[in-house]
Amino acid sequence: MGLITKIFGTYSQRELKSIYPIADKIEALADEYKALTDAQLQAKTPEFKERLANGETLDDLLPEAFATVREAADRVLGLRPYRVQLIGGIVLHQGRIAEMKTGEGKTLVATLPSYLNALTGRGVHIVTVNDYLAKRDSEWMGKVHRFLGLSVGLIVHDLSKEERQAAYNADITYGTNNEMGFDYLRDNMAIYKNEQVQRGHNFAIVDEVDSILIDEARTPLIISGMGDKSTQLYDMAESLVARMKKYVVAEVDSKEEEAEDIDADYVVDEKAKTATLTARGIAKAEEFFNLENLSDPENSTIAHHINQAIKAHGVMKRDVDYVIKDGEIIIVDEFTGRLMFGRRYSEGLHQAIEAKEHVSVQRESKTLATITFQNYFRLYQKLSGMTGTALTEEEEFATIYKLDIVEIPTNRPIARIDDQDSVYKTEQGKFRAVIRQVEECHAKGQPVLVGTVSIEKNELLSRMLTKAGIKHNVLNAKNHEREAEIVAQAGKLGAVTVATNMAGRGTDIMLGGNAEYMATSDLRKAGLSDELIAEATGYAETDNQEILDARRLFAQKLQQHKEEIAGEAEQVRQAGGLFIVGTERHDSRRIDNQLRGRAGRQGDPGETRFYISLEDDLMRLFGGERINAIMERMNLDEDTPIENKMLTRAIEQAQTTVESRNFQSRKSVLEYDDVMNKQREIIYDQRKQVLEGMDVKGIIMNMMSTAIGHQVSSAFGGESHMDEAGMRELLRQVEGLYFPRYTVRFEPERIPQLTAEEVIDAFTAAAADFYEKKEQEFTSPVMREVERVVLLRVVDEYWMDHIDAMTDLRQGIGLRAYAQTDPIIAYKKESLEMFEEMISAIQEETVRRLYSVRLRKNEEVKRERVAKTTSESVGGDGTVKKQPRKVKKIGRNEPCPCGSGKKYKNCCGRDA
Ligand code: ADP
Repeated sequence: MGLITKIFGTYSQRELKSIYPIADKIEALADEYKALTDAQLQAKTPEFKERLANGETLDDLLPEAFATVREAADRVLGLRPYRVQLIGGIVLHQGRIAEMKTGEGKTLVATLPSYLNALTGRGVHIVTVNDYLAKRDSEWMGKVHRFLGLSVGLIVHDLSKEERQAAYNADITYGTNNEMGFDYLRDNMAIYKNEQVQRGHNFAIVDEVDSILIDEARTPLIISGMGDKSTQLYDMAESLVARMKKYVVAEVDSKEEEAEDIDADYVVDEKAKTATLTARGIAKAEEFFNLENLSDPENSTIAHHINQAIKAHGVMKRDVDYVIKDGEIIIVDEFTGRLMFGRRYSEGLHQAIEAKEHVSVQRESKTLATITFQNYFRLYQKLSGMTGTALTEEEEFATIYKLDIVEIPTNRPIARIDDQDSVYKTEQGKFRAVIRQVEECHAKGQPVLVGTVSIEKNELLSRMLTKAGIKHNVLNAKNHEREAEIVAQAGKLGAVTVATNMAGRGTDIMLGGNAEYMATSDLRKAGLSDELIAEATGYAETDNQEILDARRLFAQKLQQHKEEIAGEAEQVRQAGGLFIVGTERHDSRRIDNQLRGRAGRQGDPGETRFYISLEDDLMRLFGGERINAIMERMNLDEDTPIENKMLTRAIEQAQTTVESRNFQSRKSVLEYDDVMNKQREIIYDQRKQVLEGMDVKGIIMNMMSTAIGHQVSSAFGGESHMDEAGMRELLRQVEGLYFPRYTVRFEPERIPQLTAEEVIDAFTAAAADFYEKKEQEFTSPVMREVERVVLLRVVDEYWMDHIDAMTDLRQGIGLRAYAQTDPIIAYKKESLEMFEEMISAIQEETVRRLYSVRLRKNEEVKRERVAKTTSESVGGDGTVKKQPRKVKKIGRNEPCPCGSGKKYKNCCGRDA
């Protein structure tokens, strides 16, 4: 602890001081509430609602409401929230982040503020990382809420619109961040209000908040449909780059001046994760694609494909960044090691990797709607979160989300020992030491969990352990189906588990073993189906006899295993509890802390130590001179470790460097998204008004007069008057569109005297008149309906094209970075211009469609068809579904599909 914090206490300690009195009040009510009958306890809910209606605030009600939930949880679940859990709940209610260590019972904590805030009737969303947790928590914790008379909803995959609406209309809604984000996007593509499922964003409690708001923040949510761009260029770029020679530098700064004479076609900078063509590489590319100059703007598409191909080859590593599963490239989450099904790298990188790995290259998709999690969660009037590890990201939470973090004390004192890092000169030496450590623990029965950063290292260690004759379980993203089950037993006597860092996050590692998982496994052995097991171990209300029997069997097995485990748990405790071995420091300290946090839950003994080598990526790339100097001075062999405070600090320094780099890159994603966010807000807001029944006719009439105004002014071309020929031409343009022919006629001799305003007035009056007639023909209700539908469709079509155009703009701006313009400023300026152009285009197109009756009817049918195919190509989770590739024959004189702009017969001769 630093001197300052010793005197003043940490931020959290100071904040807690003002929270303790509230917790005292809740605790003081305990006896009184214990004495209430169930009915009296349940009567609290309507009472609180009434008091709210009569002007009391949520803060006024907090102590009593929390005391109510506490008593109800005790009665319904047999779990009585500890004092620290009450404190966590208060922090959440205050719209902040509660940092609570693993095993402190965050799931239960969330019931307190969600009950209190749901009393307003405006809805509370509890957000978790996966469907399983959302379902479990809604059933389990939902019991408490239902007991108290509140409704609970669940949002997971594969729900119908009606089910979603019902779930969002509940007082408290559990769901995943993905589903909720996608629902928001889909709601804003709805044509009718009753297609929308959400009812606003009042208060969200985000579980594992760091994972959702930080780790997932770099990849936005995207709903996409099929695009129409060919994929062939990827294969061509691939066949070029596959023959190219690369050169890897770790320290690019010192090598820069040599770039010219490097014997390679492209240079890979590991630190910056970039790949750049050398002069030789450029020459090769130009020859291959038969181009005069690759850097010509007209060749930018080819250049982009080549750049992605060298990135795919030079920077992206198989089994580290991605894996191949069933012929598809699946991204590996760099923080959790999980496979991110359905996610794709953007800007063609994913296709470039597909080409590199010779799996089928998927068509580029068209983005229909997109938002980052940052901007989704900023929609909530009040946002809060909980996690075991947030403090290292304090600045990011504060600047991006305006969330501060309060560290909640643990229920029992922490007994875990966190050792200093052991640093080795070489990776070989480090791994040998890891094996020795595992052997040492194993000999006395102490369970060990070995965390690895990548799948590659995970498999290497497994081989080394096998060689040393140590039986162990391996867990990585490739075999993650049984992940939770394996991790759950990592605390058994003598267990050795090698896992990628966050495998099975959220699963309790209990000393001696996890009885719940053993009982589940018994049910499976007894031949129960997976569905029945899920019901038996779940908490949903039921009177189904089969399920009730299964539950009884489960309870019986659970009890049996608990008794068996008790003795084993004691032995493990004697052996020192769970030992965590980190085999590499992660880029982010937060992820290391999560690994450490798997040991020492609820006051259990445990020990953690990180093994590091100077050859680790983090050390090589960011370790810097300081660490090397320390190592040099010590002059050690491969197998001797150094444990040194200064060194540990230098390593953490390296981590902070990477963390702030990553923060910068997330900030930049956000900076760009913010530009679009403002525009999205405008579009969504206007859509919403239309959906909620605003007077569209007034808008259409305004649009019409604006459109006529534009047209007339441009016909006048800055002159004050116009001749007869000019008028004839103008009438030709507007007749048949805004009003039938011969409706407006000017005396030939008057024409030269007419001003633009007079002409506009005459046209507008005729157009309004024509519209009235049309309305009579169609009837007003039908006309209103048609107006709404046409307007919304036109807005959506143009907005979707605009999103794509913005992506192109952003890529283009990136290339301009060196031209002394700040890219973000240029982006803001140009995108605003594009947005304004889009708005006028929307107005004109809407008016045009509404005025052209016949055209409109045809259009409608066509649109409906288009709308249908689009939504079919959108997966429920927004992933792009595969479509068969079409083979097309190309004429000799047609442009080559490679995009070179040359005739096919003179170009590369590739197939379509
Ligand atoms: P976290 O998410 O904080 O790691 P969980 O919510 O998964 O923790 O809870 C861990 C375990 O602690 C669960 O088995 C839960 O039933 C138990 N638990 C939580 N709160 C209490 C409590 N007040 N009393 C007893 N057990 C509790």
